Amino acid sequence: MLRLQAYQFELRPSGEQLRNLRQFAGSCRFVYNKALALNTERYNQKEKHLGYARLCALLPNWKREHHFLSEVPAQALQQALKNLERAYTNFFQKRADFPKFKKKGQRESFRVPQGFEVDNGNGRIKLPKMGWMRYRKSQEVLGEPKNVTIRESCGKWFIAVQTEREVDTPLHESTSMVGLDWGIVRFYTLSNGEHQEQCQPLKKCLPKLAKLQRRMAPKKKFSSNWKKVKAGIAKLHQRIANIRKDFLHQSSNEISKNHAVVFVEDLQVKNMSKSSKGRKDQPGKQVAQKSGLNRAILDGSPFELRRQLEYKTEWRGGRLYPVPPQNTSRTCPVSLGGCGLVSADNRKTQAKFACVQCGLSGNADFISAVNIREAGFASLACLLGPSARESS
Ligand SMILES: [Zn+2]
Repeated sequence: MLRLQAYQFELRPSGEQLRNLRQFAGSCRFVYNKALALNTERYNQKEKHLGYARLCALLPNWKREHHFLSEVPAQALQQALKNLERAYTNFFQKRADFPKFKKKGQRESFRVPQGFEVDNGNGRIKLPKMGWMRYRKSQEVLGEPKNVTIRESCGKWFIAVQTEREVDTPLHESTSMVGLDWGIVRFYTLSNGEHQEQCQPLKKCLPKLAKLQRRMAPKKKFSSNWKKVKAGIAKLHQRIANIRKDFLHQSSNEISKNHAVVFVEDLQVKNMSKSSKGRKDQPGKQVAQKSGLNRAILDGSPFELRRQLEYKTEWRGGRLYPVPPQNTSRTCPVSLGGCGLVSADNRKTQAKFACVQCGLSGNADFISAVNIREAGFASLACLLGPSARESS
């Protein structure tokens, strides 16, 4: 089995290297925005969209027009165009909004797919056009480095080394198969009755964040006080992101360790983020802030959990199976002694399930998790054929 793994370290750049990092990230942003502007214009003129290869062919011209681009590794500029291509694909496949222009100071990053060297023994990395740079070595890097992504966060620079290595496919320690449902009140609920509440430390951060945002509002923009509060907000955002990350990893570790097969609903990204967006025609400052907040906390969480479960179950020799989400929340589960009735009336509230025919009742997330497990079994039986159905 090929195992892909990313290792992240904090960089310790010298003053000159720091300037290089900013310049590289800035140039990649410039190329990304230039290509996006070009394609937007072509779209308005009803001309055909330029793909990755066609855009790459324009790079030599752009380098002649803008000399600073020649000081940046060409590979990194191409990767920026690849990112744009991916953003377009995600948009066309309805997984994301239309690509946006990148702003200075927002998620500065660039990727180098080759021409770099990782010397983990000495905790240093060599990037093209930059030379050796130190990083805080916090763990060993296993496997062959395939690419590196460099990014800035709250004034610090980090490097993520993506590696590949061949490992034996393990046999999962457990034979358990569960259905998993995610919700607003409970983060997830399993068909065996276990559940995980939403991340509590995160809730404690929210009033603090709201307070900081209120304090920032009356301040004069770009004044030193305004900048101070803004830095505080950025720091808190970072802390929230870290708490959320730990919480997600703990959750996915626990589930993938205890269960060999996990069934989940196959959800679309679009459906999940709609509720937090508010009205587009009247965005307003508060809505914008609030939606940014909701997105950071709620958005993506189920998807990130799913993404982690997918590779973590596989690492342990298990498997994640998505099942179609039809009727999982409104079916009266036969496996719990119910009658099998499918009705929207069965779902009384967000939290409560009560069958209108046989009276079976319970926590709505738990009932859904049970139904997801049943749907998973059904689709597995189809995959394995009639012999599997007989033996089970
Ligand atoms: Zn029933």
